[in-house]
Amino acid sequence: EPDDTLRGERQPQDADRALRPQVLDEFIGQHEARANLRIFIESARKREETMDHVLFYGPPGLGKTTLAQIMARELGVNFKMTSGPVLARAGDLAAILTNLEARDVLFIDEIHRMNPVVEEVLYPAMEDFELDLVIGEGPAARTVRIELQPFTLVGATTRMGLLSTPLRDRFGIPTRLQFYTTDELHEIVTRGARMLGVPADDAGAHEIAKRARGTPRIAGRLLRRVLDFAVVEGDGRITHAIADNALTRLGVDHLGLDGADRRYLMLIAENYQGGPVGVETLAAALSESRDAIEDVIEPYLLQQGLIQRTPRGRMLTQKTWQHLGLTPPKKPDQ
Ligand code: ADP
Repeated sequence: EPDDTLRGERQPQDADRALRPQVLDEFIGQHEARANLRIFIESARKREETMDHVLFYGPPGLGKTTLAQIMARELGVNFKMTSGPVLARAGDLAAILTNLEARDVLFIDEIHRMNPVVEEVLYPAMEDFELDLVIGEGPAARTVRIELQPFTLVGATTRMGLLSTPLRDRFGIPTRLQFYTTDELHEIVTRGARMLGVPADDAGAHEIAKRARGTPRIAGRLLRRVLDFAVVEGDGRITHAIADNALTRLGVDHLGLDGADRRYLMLIAENYQGGPVGVETLAAALSESRDAIEDVIEPYLLQQGLIQRTPRGRMLTQKTWQHLGLTPPKKPDQ
């Protein structure tokens, strides 16, 4: 008999774990979000109250899970973690909610992918810390109300727009996470290298930071790959030359674009004369899901000014043609 309390829960398990900042002071970047969270955490602690529900939104790998864990640690409560797609039935969520202790943090990743039936259960739980469960079926069905311990829900989503309005409205603290600057990533890489026990000089760390797509998770991944090259082909130290060479061989260009980014841009350039072209068309041509394109590929390209979103679809910019080393076609309407 499986333990119900564990159903639908997942543990943070990635190679990044050792690099994860443990407290708010160790967390680099996201100054505005961090400053606000500090106040809300402190206030909840002083008043001995449950902290209000928080929604983190922004592209993958920017620190949503990390911040949720930090919140629990700083609030001095348990951290429970699950994700939208894993909660298949109302009972899955009910089992988790009824096992929470007072003021615990429940983290739901990819909360926009929650089944609507499960989402309905969440509303009264968030608002009144109550659970309405339907027991039985047909004419014998009845509703029982269960009191829950007060808890803090931390939701994470890659796109705010995919959340239903009633769910979005129940978060008192919506917090948008931004891409990191090269300087911030430089700090993250330097700290990561120190924790991995690898010497990295300034120019080497800077090169990795510059090519990490504004994303700490990618910075961590690139750092580990560059380290492999440094160990095998260098003297174990991460220098600018080692980093530059390794990243180029890994297919990461000077703007930090990888193979998937370039395939996307080249498709628009070569097959659609620079656009505009609709995202569904691009998804079909690339054999990618529309979600993957909109959540993972496009945000960074938009932020870098490499594509524009227009009502008629995606378009390349002058900067992109230059970056790809291509000449934009002459169009009659230009
Ligand atoms: P998300 O939940 O937004 O996808 P995560 O919280 O899992 O992102 O972060 C991905 C990885 O990036 C983490 O394992 C952590 O090591 C690293 N990371 C994220 N934000 C920071 C930061 N501000 N400073 C240092 N490392 C970070």
